[in-house]
Amino acid sequence: MRIARFTTGDEPQFGVVTGDVDALGIPAEDTVLVGLAGDPLHVGVQLTDTEVPLSQVRLLAPVLPRSKVVGIGKNYAAHAAEMGGKAPDEPLMFLKPNTSVVGPGDPVFYPRQSSEVHYEGELAVVISRICRDVAPERVADVIYGYTVGNDVTARDLQRSDVQFTRAKGFDSFCPLGPWIETELDVSDLRVTTHLNGDLRQDGTTRDMIHDVPALVAHVSSVMTLLPGDVILTGTPEGVGPMQVGDEVEVTVAGIGSLTNTVASRD
Ligand code: MG
Repeated sequence: MRIARFTTGDEPQFGVVTGDVDALGIPAEDTVLVGLAGDPLHVGVQLTDTEVPLSQVRLLAPVLPRSKVVGIGKNYAAHAAEMGGKAPDEPLMFLKPNTSVVGPGDPVFYPRQSSEVHYEGELAVVISRICRDVAPERVADVIYGYTVGNDVTARDLQRSDVQFTRAKGFDSFCPLGPWIETELDVSDLRVTTHLNGDLRQDGTTRDMIHDVPALVAHVSSVMTLLPGDVILTGTPEGVGPMQVGDEVEVTVAGIGSLTNTVASRD
């Protein structure tokens, strides 16, 4: 099932994306959203009589993390190499504030403190319930679904600050969407990033050093995870800079595409 959050100009609401999608997760033009009562993460899927064409809504970030977005650095060997080093033995964790989350089509604002803002296309995991110390073989029980993420990073500030909070934490630095796919085998999904239509990243989740069960187990051994928390699973090689006016599109096969445009803050 694909769970979207959307608005038609009124209050945001959740809906189920009906119909078929192609191999990349892109739906047909006549796709319809069926509205849901409340947030399905907290009250379950309760269908309403509301039906809206997908083409007539504005999609929003499909989840609003109430506590945190956990990022994982250097989880693909080729990306670790392009960053100038080896991948760490254990997953490298960092936090992005929930205020960095934006939705499909929202602008990514280029901060005045940086002159090197990079895209990082990633598979994002959405947690379904409060959990701690989850064993890898139980991880499926705590995953609500998967969406597409862009772990936008001010690379110059990441280098100068050493730690990642500022470089990864600006408002709008965590686009998520277009929806949450709740049933998906994520062991071998193609992850691509296009910048202004040009292919810049082309990886597969098969090449993750630590797979999704290992990541959720690791993160939950450090901090309690809450419903709606998001874990970004790392980016394949090919990261690079974006400029104001650029359009960045991250696609995870089986989920869909997330497109944002870089905008000036002024
Ligand atoms: Mg990343």
